Amino acid sequence: MSGPFVIAVDGPAASGKGTIAKGLGEAFRLPVLDTGLLYRAVGVLAERAGELDNAEACAAAAVTMTADQLDDPRLRTREAGEMASQAAVHPEVRAALLEYQRTFAAQEGGAILDGRDIGTVICPTAPAKLYVTATPEVRADRRWKQLQAQGDAVSLEEVLADIRLRDQRDGDRDAAPMRRAPDAVLLDTSEMTIEQAADAARRIVEAARARWENS
Ligand code: C5P
Repeated sequence: MSGPFVIAVDGPAASGKGTIAKGLGEAFRLPVLDTGLLYRAVGVLAERAGELDNAEACAAAAVTMTADQLDDPRLRTREAGEMASQAAVHPEVRAALLEYQRTFAAQEGGAILDGRDIGTVICPTAPAKLYVTATPEVRADRRWKQLQAQGDAVSLEEVLADIRLRDQRDGDRDAAPMRRAPDAVLLDTSEMTIEQAADAARRIVEAARARWENS
């Protein structure tokens, strides 16, 4: 047993990783950081300044950002997700957000972080790693239903196109591209309800925790 018990939950947009991370937080009584919100906050700040393409300006936004800005419901919109993925390609932004994430992960009792590069870059030695995925069609359908509930009249086709674009940008970028860490357990939730996915994740983490306690 070495270091705090960190759970890394990575995966593409609308794979269910956020809900899974929250469920794990309740089951294991650990604080959860949705790292996508950090990139969303940076993206929104940079867009407002008309500087989304400017790596230095985006990194400056990352440095000035405060934790209470992460509660803003505007960060949950489709547009904010798109801005986040544009801001996230800049290595300067990723570097500026690194320490915040590592400090969160280093909490004595342990922590859960969900994102794209937690198991590969932020917490490569995390004792529990999950890579949550689902087909683009299933993810688009889930995201579309969420957006409808928020009153966004977007079409399913548009949501699917957004998801494909984001998968491509997040997977193809040079800085910390979205990848499954070799030691992450793959959880494909395409054919699962969210309850089944949360249950499967809990069992994977219980097994990892037992290994960690005995190591
Ligand atoms: O997870 P969420 O959809 O909120 O993430 C928004 C965007 O932020 C992602 O599409 C990705 O470009 C970026 N991101 C990232 N690294 C993370 C979390 C999110 O690059 N750890």
